[in-house]
Amino acid sequence: MATGDGMAIAYQAGAVLADLEFVQFHPTALAVKGAPRFLLSEALRGEGAVLRNVDLERFMKRYHEAGELAPRDVVARAIVTEMLRTETEYVYLDMTGRPADYVRKRFPRIYATCQGYGLDITSDLVPVRPAAHYAMGGVKTDLFGRTTLPGLYAAGETAATGVHGANRLASNSLLEGLVFGARAGAAMAQGSPAAKAKAATPNPGPQGKAAQNHLGQRGKKPNQPNYEKHANHTSRHAAGPAAPSDPVTAALEQIRTLMWKDVGILRNGRELALAIEQLDTLTIECPERALRQACELHNLWTLAQLIARSALAREESRGSHYRSDFPYHNDEDFLKHSCVARGKNICFEK
Ligand SMILES: Cc1cc2nc3c(=O)[nH]c(=O)nc-3n(C[C@H](O)[C@H](O)[C@H](O)COP(=O)(O)OP(=O)(O)OC[C@H]3O[C@@H](n4cnc5c(N)ncnc54)[C@H](O)[C@@H]3O)c2cc1C
Repeated sequence: MATGDGMAIAYQAGAVLADLEFVQFHPTALAVKGAPRFLLSEALRGEGAVLRNVDLERFMKRYHEAGELAPRDVVARAIVTEMLRTETEYVYLDMTGRPADYVRKRFPRIYATCQGYGLDITSDLVPVRPAAHYAMGGVKTDLFGRTTLPGLYAAGETAATGVHGANRLASNSLLEGLVFGARAGAAMAQGSPAAKAKAATPNPGPQGKAAQNHLGQRGKKPNQPNYEKHANHTSRHAAGPAAPSDPVTAALEQIRTLMWKDVGILRNGRELALAIEQLDTLTIECPERALRQACELHNLWTLAQLIARSALAREESRGSHYRSDFPYHNDEDFLKHSCVARGKNICFEK
């Protein structure tokens, strides 16, 4: 489970965080009670899988002309809208239109995982729902991993370099981790006290030179589906987790439910404001001892508040951030990054 430790720690230390409202959801995670949020690759839809609501209607064409091949955020919004409309917690992914042998060979891992939950993707409809997947925002950095706090560097998903805009293209994050991890490492080496001391001498040593060169280089710029089976599965579908037994898990569930409901895929100002109010009323102390679960809960709570505040401040829809009360882009006011720092209001900067 991602708990946002890096972002929360940087925030507590005084660094600026940016673009936190941009959270990408994967449209099709397996929605079977007791199963982890296993992702059913979007390649399935690329290979012909279709989406059906619980009444078995294909619905995507109502939302986008490309149907199931619409962009990820459009598909996620369409699924949630259908879930709300039909008062269910899932829709179906239907891969039964392709030959069973082909599906088994092309998607062996997905096939095997679903089998583990009693679902045969070649003949059954698979219950799915969106799941939080990637954070475009994070600790604000320059193109060398430097945050606004001298000496603090960030790279990877915890950082907000700006390269993903408001909606990451699939697979760019691993590339980002590689490029910006190397850049940040080189910048750290260059900015270290040892490197600075060397640079102060008339002849920089080979280590300093190497770091400089490194930085310089990087710096350049259907079969008949089994309709009976899903009736049998209905009782096992994701209807929410089992009742939590301890206070940390209980608080975690409360935050998770609140975030999914009011700060999730479809947002509006009224619900966001209510969510912020409710998050504020939770009392989650920062643990004095480094108890992992409690620290993670505090970090996650901190970040939940910041995401909700950033989402409320951005009164437009852009990328993964969709406001039903502001459904259009507003470039004039919001073609900017949201920024937040400890003790300060959200502001927008170019
Ligand atoms: C199911 C799934 C599929 C994905 N598929 C793709 C894909 O196909 N292509 C793509 O580009 N991206 C994909 N992504 C996104 C991509 O995996 C992540 O963006 C990327 O791994 C982030 O790298 P990272 O190094 O920043 O963070 P991570 O890979 O999460 O590494 C962070 C590390 O820090 C450690 N850590 C966490 N908290 C602490 C702490 N408090 N103290 C010490 N250590 C800590 C963790 O244990 C972990 O080892 C996928 C994500 C998911 C969830």
